[in-house]
Amino acid sequence: VQLIWEEFLKIIQEEAGSQIVETWFKSVCIDDWDATTNSIILRAPNQFVSNWIEQHYENLLKKHLARLLNTHELSVAFVYGSKAPEKTRNIIPASIAVGQQTNTTFSVVRQSNRGELVVSSKKNKSTTKSSPNPQYTFSNFIAGPSNSLAHAAAWAICENLGKVYNPLFIYGGTGLGKTHLLHAIGNETLRRHPSWVIRYETSDNFINEFINSIRFDRSPHFRKKYQNVDVLLLDDIQFLSNKEQTQETFFHIFNDLYEQQKQIVLSSDTFPQEITGLQSRLKSRMEWGLVADIQMPDTETKIAILKRKAEANNIDLPDDVADFIGSRVLSNIRELEGALIRVGAFASLTNQPITLELGKKVLLNLNGQKKKEKSIMPNTVLKAVARSYQVSTLDIRSKKRNKDIAVVRQVAFYLMKKLTYCSLQAIGGYIGGRNHSTVIHAISKVEEIREKDRNFAQKIKKIEYDILNS
Ligand code: ADP
Ligand code: MG
Repeated sequence: VQLIWEEFLKIIQEEAGSQIVETWFKSVCIDDWDATTNSIILRAPNQFVSNWIEQHYENLLKKHLARLLNTHELSVAFVYGSKAPEKTRNIIPASIAVGQQTNTTFSVVRQSNRGELVVSSKKNKSTTKSSPNPQYTFSNFIAGPSNSLAHAAAWAICENLGKVYNPLFIYGGTGLGKTHLLHAIGNETLRRHPSWVIRYETSDNFINEFINSIRFDRSPHFRKKYQNVDVLLLDDIQFLSNKEQTQETFFHIFNDLYEQQKQIVLSSDTFPQEITGLQSRLKSRMEWGLVADIQMPDTETKIAILKRKAEANNIDLPDDVADFIGSRVLSNIRELEGALIRVGAFASLTNQPITLELGKKVLLNLNGQKKKEKSIMPNTVLKAVARSYQVSTLDIRSKKRNKDIAVVRQVAFYLMKKLTYCSLQAIGGYIGGRNHSTVIHAISKVEEIREKDRNFAQKIKKIEYDILNS
């Protein structure tokens, strides 16, 4: 069985890159394989790794392991921590098989310190993978000046699918609500037309499935899957960048659907013309309908989102705390939600009500405390970034546009926003007279890379640490 895992690692390396194999898959091994129940147990060093793999590579994992193990019906489960006693391990497949409806299940098995195994309820996602997530609806999406066009357009297409704006193209930085809106359109359409085929797909997944279809010589099959789609929601299409063959196929799928007046909704982190490595005929098609942006919301909208979110999570959030969180420097809504969750968690863990004092304590501890004690000057940040990347501060402030310096500049924008009290305009002005939308773009770019690239994230952490402790 171990050979199978090694084979699997090779495939993943080809498909996802060695970085991902090193970071995630290398630390995992096959713990048990039961051919009678077609269940495989993977052992990860900890829950974080198993969760991450489950969230990001579930499809890859299932697909390739099923093929390597020569089965269609594969259920995958994780255990983590040290090795379980022999007999408890054998129980797992049976417990997973319970409630199995589709041919592939995916579960996370938690191992308590007494060696029992607990199956958590992440099952049968394969059937719903491409359907809209019911959590994201119009009713829990707060409209404000920052997203009003995108929101209105999303509503409008639901009332007249395929007819008004086709495609609808929504763009904006990370964590500002693009995915939420896509799902909301899907859910609203399903409500109106329960029998329709609504397909939500991340571009990552789209690419992976396409690659697999070629691998198994099934690319006509791949296109067919999209033929009967009534609404196609394709998220984060900037990832199609430089994926020539996938773009080619997407081009045909787009044309087929468009001709049939099927609604297409796309999202990206920038507007179509600015997506590099995308065929120009695709770019122009993306502009056929309506292009709508989403910006960072103003404080009022942030507060409204917080209140709605608190309600949904049964967090008792006083107005002054909502104001405090909403007015803090946060670069996207995901971060805003994170702040709320941290405050809520701290209050409930320590059995206290949420007060302004508590909110400040929790949030300022994390990154605002030092900022409060001594105000950090943009120049300090600039110098620290320059030192860390071994470039000159002049280069960062210059108009040079090569990739290396551009990334360093984005890091500088990001850290200035995070560590100083300067406004976006001021930061942009300080670094070579750039406007505030460039700064916003830079910040979300850094956040995006930070999520994917651990070394990068650590490097930024280190610079931040140096600045705070200088
Ligand atoms: P993106 O896809 O643009 O990166 P998401 O759609 O994933 O961002 O949004 C990040 C989080 O913020 C989600 O939990 C989403 O529900 C929430 N969110 C974003 N915009 C809004 C909004 N206007 N109202 C309520 N929640 C929002
Ligand atoms: Mg998204």
